[in-house]
Amino acid sequence: DHPIHARIEGAVVMIGFGSIGRGTLPLIDRHFDYDRDRLMVIDPADKACADLAARGISHDQVALTPDNYREVLGRHLTPGKGFCVNLSVDTSSLDLMKYCREIGVPYIDTVVEPWAGFYFDTENNAERTNYALRQKVRDEKAANPGGTTAVSCCGANPGMVSWFVKAALLHLARDTGNRTAAPADREGWARLMQSLGVKGVHIAERDTQARKTPRPRDVFVNTWSVEGFIAEGFQPAELGWGTHETWLPENARRHGTGCQAAIWMNRPGAITRVHSWCPTPGPQFGFLVTHNEAISISDYYTVGSGPGPEYRPTCHYAYHPCDDAVLSLHEMFGAGRQQQVHHILTEDEIVEGIDELGVLLFGHEKNALWYGSRLSNAETRKLAPDQNATGLQVTSAVLAGMVWALENPNAGIVETDEMDHARCLEIQTPYLGPVEAHYTDWTPLQDRWQHFPEDIDESDPWQFRNVLAS
Ligand code: NAD
Repeated sequence: DHPIHARIEGAVVMIGFGSIGRGTLPLIDRHFDYDRDRLMVIDPADKACADLAARGISHDQVALTPDNYREVLGRHLTPGKGFCVNLSVDTSSLDLMKYCREIGVPYIDTVVEPWAGFYFDTENNAERTNYALRQKVRDEKAANPGGTTAVSCCGANPGMVSWFVKAALLHLARDTGNRTAAPADREGWARLMQSLGVKGVHIAERDTQARKTPRPRDVFVNTWSVEGFIAEGFQPAELGWGTHETWLPENARRHGTGCQAAIWMNRPGAITRVHSWCPTPGPQFGFLVTHNEAISISDYYTVGSGPGPEYRPTCHYAYHPCDDAVLSLHEMFGAGRQQQVHHILTEDEIVEGIDELGVLLFGHEKNALWYGSRLSNAETRKLAPDQNATGLQVTSAVLAGMVWALENPNAGIVETDEMDHARCLEIQTPYLGPVEAHYTDWTPLQDRWQHFPEDIDESDPWQFRNVLAS
């Protein structure tokens, strides 16, 4: 009963067969009519290649580098057709998408990934931001508009959450007596958000997936790429900076060039805590880990332009990873060194928990609205093989993005904010478990430690000054 959404002619080349690649493959098999003999997976890791060999899947055991990527991809891709699905770490999304567009092959990734070395060898923190990584992709789009579709950052977040923002806005419009059809363009969406009085958006996530045995010391445990999480956790905290903000953190920095939608803080995101809210825990701490969507959403919903626009929402990630990952971060930052052993929790060892991932639209007439997916690992196991709940939220967004790209083959470089959210969610929702909207009267001024004075602004609950934990 799985619908075939499209036919893919030519080669399907997947780069990276880690937790996300492994989970994406069964969805590609299910929902596309394509020639399985033309599937090729590129991954340098012994473990990934042993798994691929055991499944009888053609693979090329090589690490893509700035020197070899054109030659390796050129060997496997079919110019003018096929698909390139980039689910790897340590490869430049920008270089790979440029090459694919050059030879007319549709492309998708889930993050603007840089070549190996960027995250830890770059000295200047401003250059290590997602703002810098994203801006290069935006500059490439501006310099070479249109052409073969390349979908940038189409996972759960960045990705699906941008579709949730649009769904949540229509939901909020309806519930506040402002029912409206979906706006037809970017400016229409930005004006809708502005007219509803939304001050900002948290990408509010609580991952409660857990296994039976406690985390051993000196092992970094997570529910998706440990390498990816450590890399982004050590990038500076970053957020889209809204026009309602009246205070700037002392360690905040602005950017001199580009879209100007965001600021960064001179501190690692994974030890920067914010007050936020999700349906299961209610109020909680999240980590202000930098993410592409924090910048893209603030940019997309800007009314006006430049550093002083008429309206812009604040936007950032407020991530409570699984408890084992919280302990892993604590241990890593405390010891000042990364654990050598990494472990991604598999669907079979997880005994309980859900990944609750949504958008919290705040500051409007109804205070705050959380809209998102509350997918359990138990349900995931019934829906699709080879992944946990976190994985399925990502891989089903990749599926939706691929379908959209095949239906819109000449859309150029796009971010998920720029795609048809209704079509994408139509494809993805069967894999998301309960997708729910929850209003809350919680604000960051509530449930604080009343015995100690704090540097907060009681006149406006939704100032970032109140959200940032001291
Ligand atoms: P993973 O660490 O499990 O797997 C990454 C794979 O990339 C590994 O198999 C590794 O061998 C391979 N790889 C490393 N260097 C390579 C190179 N030079 N060339 C080709 N392959 C190489 O990671 P994952 O959990 O599968 O995540 C994959 C990517 O997806 C990461 O970039 C991650 O940040 C991203 N991601 C995005 C989201 C989202 O919601 N947008 C969520 C999870 C992961």
